[in-house]
Amino acid sequence: MKYSQLFGKTVRDFPKEEVSVNAKFLIRAGFIDKLMAGSFTLLPLGFRVKEKIEQIVREEMNATGANEMLMPLLHPKEIWNETGRWDSAKEVMYQFKKDNKEYALSFTHEEIVLDVLRKKISGYKDLPVKIYHFSTKFRDEPRAKSGILRGREFLMKDLYSAHTSNEDFDKYYWEVADAYLKIFKRLGIDVRIVEAAGGVFTDDHTHEFQVLCDQGEDTIFYCDCGKTCDCKFAENKEIATVKEGDKCPKCNDCKIKEGKSIEVGNIFKFGTVYSQKMGVYYNDKDGSRKLVHFGSYGIGITRMIGTLVELFHDDKGILWPKAVAPYQVHLIEIGKDASSIYEKLQEEEIEVLYDERDVSVGQKFTDADLIGVPVRLVVSTKNEDKIEWKERTSEKTELLDFEEVLKRLKESK
Ligand code: ATP
Ligand code: MG
Repeated sequence: MKYSQLFGKTVRDFPKEEVSVNAKFLIRAGFIDKLMAGSFTLLPLGFRVKEKIEQIVREEMNATGANEMLMPLLHPKEIWNETGRWDSAKEVMYQFKKDNKEYALSFTHEEIVLDVLRKKISGYKDLPVKIYHFSTKFRDEPRAKSGILRGREFLMKDLYSAHTSNEDFDKYYWEVADAYLKIFKRLGIDVRIVEAAGGVFTDDHTHEFQVLCDQGEDTIFYCDCGKTCDCKFAENKEIATVKEGDKCPKCNDCKIKEGKSIEVGNIFKFGTVYSQKMGVYYNDKDGSRKLVHFGSYGIGITRMIGTLVELFHDDKGILWPKAVAPYQVHLIEIGKDASSIYEKLQEEEIEVLYDERDVSVGQKFTDADLIGVPVRLVVSTKNEDKIEWKERTSEKTELLDFEEVLKRLKESK
């Protein structure tokens, strides 16, 4: 992509009311634009990051045997009345009336999935069902002040599963938890699985995936594992049985610490509560009619973009992990045409952002640091036939042949 043709360039000014690091950098670097509090456009750069995160999530969801689909965002009141959530979740839901009929915008999809299940499932051979989608969620968030971490409209991956027995459900629940750990590892973040209360979702406990970060809105107590152990014990402060300074109850070795964290994922066990309310049955082998065991599993996709910026930045801009960077390399030309290098890299399927603008060297470098692509390449009269290689996370520069540049880029793919 030629930078001159990219829609959404770096900007100097950004909304003054934005206090969060993620919103400041994402807006200034041209990844997002703010419509109103908690509502953002993903500009082409931000969209590319979103696509990469989604692809990682998709691969790991498919590996558990789940099917991707897509459900609607406009829901009739009647479906929410079946579980009682039209009233109990009133505070978060956008509800409205049109031509004497009442509707809500999707804040989650359990009721919609259960409606599909009761139409499609008849016998035990139809189970288990594992279905997911990537979709927009709307929530009336009174605290929409953490940039893209907390939207009133945001993207989520939500998976739902239905099973013949609690045993089968439980097995899959932990398989998904494992898939989540793989996803977060591929995204380069270190999460803790935290037991927590389920809010408007369930009376039972759920498991949250929390990443330690000073900008987080949650507080967790966690085992400060260090080098001595890897027990990863953690509890949400809201329900905690430990306090800071306690000995970790799991490894019995390290000390418990308190820290701020961001919830990037959450998985829920509902048992048969929802299937009973909505009448989702199957016929078992012996002919008896039984309720399905049901659960749901969410990951915040747009929150993940913000989380990565909160975790990986310096005073100059973003430091994208390779797996989700919008481009692999940021190619800058200084007083010399680099279009043949750009074309050759593209032929080799390297994703290149090529700054061919007629602007100062200083501006090109400042923009490259702000945007945060992992590798910067400079083609200039000074470097003759060599290309200058610099990684965003290091100050070191090296002069390399094109072949060496290509080799390194292919290796790091
Ligand atoms: P929070 O406690 O942060 O309000 P939640 O527990 O209400 O989140 P869930 O219903 O568990 O959220 O949703 C699943 C995932 O969707 C969360 O783990 C989070 O990553 C993401 N998410 C939830 N609310 C928002 C939001 N307002 N903006 C962006 N992402 C969100
Ligand atoms: Mg949650």
